[in-house]
Amino acid sequence: PASAELAIADLDAMGRFGKRLAGLLRAGDVLILTGDLGAGKTTLTQSIAAGLGVRGRVSSPTFVIAREHAPTGAGPGLVHVDAYRLGSAAELDDLGLEDALADSAAVIEWGAGLAEQLSAERLEVSISADPATEDRTIALTPHGTWGERLRAAGLG
Ligand code: ADP
Ligand code: MG
Repeated sequence: PASAELAIADLDAMGRFGKRLAGLLRAGDVLILTGDLGAGKTTLTQSIAAGLGVRGRVSSPTFVIAREHAPTGAGPGLVHVDAYRLGSAAELDDLGLEDALADSAAVIEWGAGLAEQLSAERLEVSISADPATEDRTIALTPHGTWGERLRAAGLG
């Protein structure tokens, strides 16, 4: 599938993008975030969480692997996964991802190696950074119906 590239000028722009993305999410959705350490995967997840109205702190789940944030309104909750230590997508099933997706969307950091094993219905969000600046480039690679959904939202 073709990717769309977005220029993100600074932290504020990343925040706006996260909230915009949150507005598209429904329960069962899977977002895969890739990018080097410090690229902004957790920062983007925090903006998505804010957009979903998630309460409480959203921090990197590196040691716990997955953290669930319950839905607070009409929209989905958030399952935030750090897949860095996971060897296979089967381990995500063991963590109960499938059940959690019933009322939540999943944001998976470092999921690149797992992406192919996951749902055919997923949006891959790859963040490139110039570490010295707030400049970021985001490549969106849609799978399944995400191409159409992005186009409808003016993001394709
Ligand atoms: P990752 O989860 O990819 O390792 P983090 O989100 O933890 O990255 O860290 C990104 C760091 O870069 C944060 O300190 C954040 O404030 C900073 N930063 C600066 N500009 C941006 C931007 N445009 N988007 C996201 N993060 C940014
Ligand atoms: Mg992170």
